[in-house]
Parts: sequence; structure tokens; C-alpha cells
Amino acid sequence: MSLDPVPALLSRATELLATHFASLPAYDSPVDTAAIEQVLEATAGRLGDNYPYFHPLYAGQMLKAPHPVARAAYALAMTVNPNNHARDGGRASSEMEIEAVRAIAAMFGWTKFLGHLTSSGTIANLEALWVADQCAPGRRIVGSRQAHYTHQRISGVLKIDYTGVVADNHGRMSMEALEAELRKGNVGTVVVTLGTTALAAVDPLDEVLALQRKYNFRVHVDAAYGGYFRLIPEALDEPARRAYAVIDRADSIVVDPHKHGLQPYGCGCVLFRDPAVGRFYKHDSPYTYFTSTRLHLGEISLECSRAGAAAVALWATQRLLPLTQGGEFARGLMSGRRAALELDRRLRQDDHVQALTAGAPDLDIVVWKQRAETPERASQLAQDVFDACATRDLHLALVQLPSSWFGPSGDVKNRAKTGMVTCLRSVLMKPEHEAWLDRIWERLTASW
Ligand SMILES: *Cc1c(COP(=O)(O)O)cnc(C)c1O
Repeated sequence: MSLDPVPALLSRATELLATHFASLPAYDSPVDTAAIEQVLEATAGRLGDNYPYFHPLYAGQMLKAPHPVARAAYALAMTVNPNNHARDGGRASSEMEIEAVRAIAAMFGWTKFLGHLTSSGTIANLEALWVADQCAPGRRIVGSRQAHYTHQRISGVLKIDYTGVVADNHGRMSMEALEAELRKGNVGTVVVTLGTTALAAVDPLDEVLALQRKYNFRVHVDAAYGGYFRLIPEALDEPARRAYAVIDRADSIVVDPHKHGLQPYGCGCVLFRDPAVGRFYKHDSPYTYFTSTRLHLGEISLECSRAGAAAVALWATQRLLPLTQGGEFARGLMSGRRAALELDRRLRQDDHVQALTAGAPDLDIVVWKQRAETPERASQLAQDVFDACATRDLHLALVQLPSSWFGPSGDVKNRAKTGMVTCLRSVLMKPEHEAWLDRIWERLTASW
């Protein structure tokens, strides 16, 4: 590992923060540093049992280390441990959350909106689907089968009917299948995913909005993974660019700063275009809201206690790396995108594998199938390559996908019978992946 800059950065800021409370009388809080040091040694010992998520050779799941500024700001906030449920528990951090969320909404083209952070994308989606149901109770939700699995589960929790429609061979929601469902009637909300979890496929939001005129439903955009790609339209292919261009016409949007936003876990975000949906959250809390008549975040969110530190870390990160087109943050997304396109290009020229027939990836996740006589054999080979790469410190992921998405091959006759095949999947979400692509490729090709 390279030298960690966080401890030094943090110590100066911690001293500065302490000066704000210097007028308080000193108090004793005995700390046995020797004992803590020992426990921390044991802790480090335990944490070593992890894949190296922070390293460019980790190119498996949607995982990366938070930015140093986020880690430092989060740790700094731990001195006070604010709770963003109410201004009573997190005065400064509530204000920082409002500012940070405003910047995220501005990225989507919204200045008038209602929104807040959540502890995850799942909770953010839960709020969006709950609000959707409050707006038009008893109507169905439709998403793609490639939408995140939690939509169906959340719908179950909320007791809303959920239908998953097929995706095309690019992993995007099929508009024919969606329209067939809309024709059946009673669809209240369509979940449109910009950046699916398996493939980072971008559903055609523009086409869904065209259907909305005819069938009248709410549009919820799940951009938990892909939301930030709104900042780099020039780096996207036409279909994805068209989808991102109209994201401001969604009724609600979810984005996860803890996925592509360089944040520690515990940071999702939900936004509503119509601020009036705040009425659904109305509740009395006799014990929490008393020091301020201004809005408390707990008055517009389903969760009660929430990490103020998550807002502090996000605010600090956005201050260092503003969410602007052409800025450093956007350039980081662009490098990962270029790495994905380059990996996909190389895979298409290699006889050992088959890339998605439909074309290049929409964002920065690449999937491929090992070429083999049968899907069973291809699945086994994927597992073998996955294991062999790991012995070379290259960490990939596996995913089950319909075989038919990967072009004609010796397994055509078995396709109907088996359907799914295990594929390799690589999430190239770190800016460093681009510079490391040759080293990734070397290890990959040595493994088949
Ligand atoms: C990760 C993800 C989620 C779930 O978010 P969590 O923060 O893991 O709860 C939802 N939708 C999509 C598209 C995702 O990629």
C-alpha cells in the first residue's frame, strides 16, 4: 500500500476543531491508549482478511476506497458524532447535508426539489417507491428484470404489486415488454435504471418518457450506480447520452454517493422533483425537534438517526471535487469509462471469449463469456479464470446472464435448454484502472 495521507491531514484538522470547544471546562475521560493500541493491532489483523478493494488490481464488484478527503472528514466528524435526524443532533452537518444534496440535484438540473441523504440506495429507493405509492395508491410498479433485486423486495414490504419485464441483449429494459405491461393497465410507476448493477446498462429513459405521455405513470430513476455519469455525456454513446439528457424529467432519482461518489458506506441520496411530496412524511416527534423552527431532515425522511458524518464527508468531497462537467471528478469517471471501452475492445479481438453481441458497454462495467462448446463448460471456465486471476492478484466478479446475449457459438443448440451462463464481470470504476489496464490484461490473458 502507498503511504496513507489521512492521519497527518486529520491531526491538524482535529486540533482546529478542538479550538471551537476550548472554552468548556476540562473534563476527565480516561483513555487507556496502550490497551487500545493492542486492540487496534488485532483489528488490523482481522481486516487483512479482505480483497484489496482499494487497489487498481481489484476490478471485481462496485467497491473502492473513499477519497482521502472523505475519510478524513468522516473521522473528523466522529469527534462530535452528529445525527442528521434533527438540527438538535446535527446542527452544522444538517446544513452541510442540505448544501451537498443541493449540488447533487443541480447536477441533474433541479433547483427546486425535495431531497436528502439516506443510509443506502436501498433505503433511498424504498422512500421513492413509498412516495410513488402514496401519490397513487394501489397501482403497480414495473421495472426491468435487470433492475436491482431490492425493488421487488421493497415492493413486497410496501405491499405493492411489482412486475419485472425482460431486458434486451444489451441489458436495457425492453420497450416492447414494458408497453405490453402498460397496456394491461394499472401501472403507477416505472423504475428506470441508469446503470444496472450487473452490466451498468442504461435503460432508454427518453423512450420511457415517450410512453408516459400515452399511459400516464410516475417515473422513478434508479441511478444508484450510474447517476454521476450525467457529468460526462460526451463520453457516452448516443442511447445512454439521450437517457441522461432527460433525467430532469423523472419524478424521483436515487443516486449512491457511496458507490461512485467516493464516499464511505452509509451514503445514499433520494431526490423528488415535486417538493410537495414532503407532506407524506409529516409526523410529530415530541422529543426531537425543539432547537430550531427550520426544517429538520428527519421531517422529510423515513429514517430517524442518520450519520451526520456521512454528510460531512460528502460535503468535503464535493468542495474538493465539485460536480461539474470537465472537472477533476468528471475526469475520473471518464478514465474508468475509457478503461472499460479498451478492455471490451481487446476482448472482442480474443478468441477465448465472447463479448456482448449488442455492442460496447454503456458505462464502465464489462462482462464477457468464455467461449466453449456448452454453457456448462463456459460457466466452469469463467469460474476457473476467476480463480486463476485471483492467484495473480487480479480480482474480478462473476455474473449469471442469458447465454443468448453472447452471439452465436457452439452452444446454440443448448441455449433454449439452459438459458443462463456464468460470465466474468469487471467493474472499472477507479480512475487508476485506465493506467493499470495493461497489467490487468496481462494477468487476465495469462489465466485462460
Ligand atoms: C447498489 C444498487 C442499489 C442498492 O444500493 P445499496 O446502496 O447497496 O443499498 C440499487 N440500485 C442499483 C442500480 C444499484 O447498483
